[in-house]
Amino acid sequence: MAKRDYYDILGINKNASAAEIKKAYRKMAVKYHPDKNPDDKEAEEKFKEAAEAYEILSDADKKARFDQYGHQAFEGGGFGGGGGMNMDDIFSQFGDIFGGGGGFGGFGGGQRQRVMKGSNLRIRVKLTLEEIANGVEKKVKVKRKTQAKGVTYKTCSTCNGQGQVTRVTNTILGRMQTAAPCNACGGTGQIIDNRPPNSDAQGFQVEEETVSIKIPAGVVDGMQLKVTGKGNAAPGNGISGDLLVAISEETHPTLQREGDNLHYDLYVSVPDAILGSSIEIDTVTGKVRLKIEAGVQSGKILRLRGKGIPNVNGYSRGDLLVHINVWTPKTLSKEQKSFFEKMKSDEHFSPKPESSDKSFFEKVKDMFS
Ligand SMILES: [Zn+2]
Repeated sequence: MAKRDYYDILGINKNASAAEIKKAYRKMAVKYHPDKNPDDKEAEEKFKEAAEAYEILSDADKKARFDQYGHQAFEGGGFGGGGGMNMDDIFSQFGDIFGGGGGFGGFGGGQRQRVMKGSNLRIRVKLTLEEIANGVEKKVKVKRKTQAKGVTYKTCSTCNGQGQVTRVTNTILGRMQTAAPCNACGGTGQIIDNRPPNSDAQGFQVEEETVSIKIPAGVVDGMQLKVTGKGNAAPGNGISGDLLVAISEETHPTLQREGDNLHYDLYVSVPDAILGSSIEIDTVTGKVRLKIEAGVQSGKILRLRGKGIPNVNGYSRGDLLVHINVWTPKTLSKEQKSFFEKMKSDEHFSPKPESSDKSFFEKVKDMFS
């Protein structure tokens, strides 16, 4: 999608004064503010878009570049190169727009604090094919950092809770603004006020917690699930990180997975292949009885529709493909041997494949076409 013109975004014309630009942005920021439009992706995009437009048009130098070259002026890194601004940047810009504390009624009054998030925890969960096919709830023990009882925090006075400090330096290219994590609070924006003796330097203690993870049917080896808020805590009124769960699939003794389909190698005795039979096999949803037609050929594939793995994203379900292998004994008794020796000269036993007895390779070709 092409980027919209910054003037169009703010609904102003090119001759707008600095005050008009500010006023237009303020209107947009209030209208599309996430606190007013919770879980509204479109509003969030508009909010970010407006912030980006303001960031450029409020800066005389950037505005001049945009007026002359349009969006091309900011391509290839630098500001606005595709990604736009993140929410923290936008909220830190508000101090300027809404004049610091107060003034901006409607969402918490005044400037929004930077919300700190704790670090994520990672675990690996091993699942059997049956668990994957049916979905499962797993309970895992995780050691999480939590705020110790009685710990209190205060806003870091060095960075005013922003977690970073901006430094303005004069260079030959003009004034440069750089942001660096605040050393006083380690970038968290909060410092310990009162620390209980059993906690670490950040006021945390490690607690073992049993977390229950709902794993949907159809997950794939290597997939990562997220349990929100079950990572490490953040200091102060920050929010906890997430628990990231990596899925690992155990090898099944008889079934092989290929996407949502399963493959099963069925070995059929010579008499069963000749006379026909009924054989029970294990599937991921329990046992299934299969009818083996008399005269079945080795290499035949029976497709059991819907007996595979459900698709993790949708409503479809894979199939179970049963590959028939006629098992030939290596040794025979005297009687058996003489019987088959007699059959050797019997024309009835010489192969006469019909078009329906396709070769293995033709069948495989059919399966994937
Ligand atoms: Zn700080």
